[in-house]
Amino acid sequence: MKQARYYIKTGKQTIRCTLCPHSCLLIPGDTGRCRVRHNHEGTLFTRSYGVVSGFGIDPIEKKPLYHYFPGSRILSVGSYGCNLRCLWCQNAHISQCGIDRQPEEKKSPAEALESASNSGGIGLAYTYNEPVVFFEWMMETARLVNDAGLKNVVVTNGYINPEPLAEWLELCHAFNVDLKSFSDEFYRKYTTGSIQPVLNTLAAIAGSGLHLEITFLVIAGMNDNARDFEKMVQWIANTLGTDVVLHINRYFPSWRLNVPATPINVMQRLEDVARKYLQRVYLGNVPHGYRSS
Ligand code: SF4
Repeated sequence: MKQARYYIKTGKQTIRCTLCPHSCLLIPGDTGRCRVRHNHEGTLFTRSYGVVSGFGIDPIEKKPLYHYFPGSRILSVGSYGCNLRCLWCQNAHISQCGIDRQPEEKKSPAEALESASNSGGIGLAYTYNEPVVFFEWMMETARLVNDAGLKNVVVTNGYINPEPLAEWLELCHAFNVDLKSFSDEFYRKYTTGSIQPVLNTLAAIAGSGLHLEITFLVIAGMNDNARDFEKMVQWIANTLGTDVVLHINRYFPSWRLNVPATPINVMQRLEDVARKYLQRVYLGNVPHGYRSS
């Protein structure tokens, strides 16, 4: 365990984590909703510091980032835990389980930098599970990667408070942010989060001029209402810019959600709507013949 950042004392041994909008209030022995930040005798520790769940070189398009050094490769790293609990999580085996039951492979920030430098890729992508919840290790590593002239890429749900987000924006170069719906009710019902912090994160990234791509996973019958989707892409165009890249990804049954895979015609209907407002729209998780260009 390593002492965490971003928390305040609210009592003799009671603390509130301020890293993400959940603001977990923790008495000694408690672990936050993310399952990795833990109150030990009145101090907040991160239990996942340097604990690696996956480490591998990928095409940058797999993040997905289609307009950031296209054709390049990037080393990807992830850990355990998540601050959301989406019913369809495709990485629930690492995001939704306690760290105690995981085999521990550890890497220091210096070791991660060395691997990134030797990988032949453009840098390091923080992905697989939610990078917000391994913030301390990520930021220490990102500083080394940045100083070495390599790139930091973040794949995130965007559920982070403004102060740590400002640190991200200083050291990271490109982001793919999940936007799961344009409805706060949807966020609260199916993810345990809320939408406004995610919108704030998107606006801050776009406002900083960093590279931003958005992924929207379409689940038929749950977030494919054409009017709501149109409001969402209008907001993206008006607030973030018409050149922000939108990936419309197809849902397949996963973890605790077992509704049928999203039909291709639903994807195409939303793609048509998005193209009215945005210049760069792609379908993902679809057979090759359907891929947008
Ligand atoms: S990062 Fe974890 S402990 Fe901190 S507020 Fe978010 S869910 Fe709670």
